[in-house]
Amino acid sequence: MSLLEGRSAVITGAAQGIGLAIARVFAGAGARLVVADIDGDAAAKAAAELAADGAEAIAVRCDVTEEADVEAMIAACADAYGRVDVLVNNAGITRDATLRKMTGDQFRQVMDVHLYGTWLGMKHASLRMREQGGGSIVNISSISGKVGLPGQTNYSAAKAGIVGMTKAAAKELAHLNIRVNAIQPGLVRTAMTEALRPDIWAEKLAGVPMGRAAEPEEVGKVALFLAGDLSSYMTGTVLEVTGGRHM
Ligand code: NAP
Repeated sequence: MSLLEGRSAVITGAAQGIGLAIARVFAGAGARLVVADIDGDAAAKAAAELAADGAEAIAVRCDVTEEADVEAMIAACADAYGRVDVLVNNAGITRDATLRKMTGDQFRQVMDVHLYGTWLGMKHASLRMREQGGGSIVNISSISGKVGLPGQTNYSAAKAGIVGMTKAAAKELAHLNIRVNAIQPGLVRTAMTEALRPDIWAEKLAGVPMGRAAEPEEVGKVALFLAGDLSSYMTGTVLEVTGGRHM
């Protein structure tokens, strides 16, 4: 399916996990990619792998908490492909701890990457998109932001905040033909969740009606739906990709 044929897409945190899977799905739909990650070497490796499979992909080192990096990432896409059609704000970290043990630094780091990073991405992508007459922004939240999870007061707050800023930006940008939507994944098999203790993984899995974790590509396919024209009359929405968990 050529749902993004000829369109350019920037994906943050795309060197691995869900971001890389989104890049693979978008490449399969004909997109021209900017693979951005805080680890520039890993981004370059991922872009080279995508290119070896026939995709058009460039790599950019970008720390989403640095405004100059985010500006340069958007400029790199415009320079390479002439436009910025899609931005996926995917970069993320966890710094899980109970309130008793969580430090202020752990709280602020998570806010910085998820909230400030997503805000910077929306700001600079939309500046470009308004000039070119439209675009689509997809923000990666989490089901943790819907229900709140113990040990994640920082992450649940940040991911709920992404929902708020998605809706605010969607209202601001709709008249410019820029759509902004969010995805709340549940349990997805990536490095982030492989770090979980086996008993915690099993406990989470027990709460999934479909009885399995998601593969990262299953989030990628929903990102593709929101990025392209199949969702042309949707903005400010939040799609849960959870196998029914916490519905
Ligand atoms: P992952 O495998 O850890 O990948 C996240 C990527 O983001 C990594 O390449 C990481 O680089 C990069 N990154 C971290 N900080 C960054 C920064 N400041 N600037 C740019 N890139 C940065 O995680 P994932 O599981 O694929 O998660 C992707 C997104 O989905 C995140 O927003 C996460 O919160 C969300 N999510 C994941 C799950 C899940 O079950 N896995 C569920 C719900 C939501 P380094 O590795 O070098 O730090």
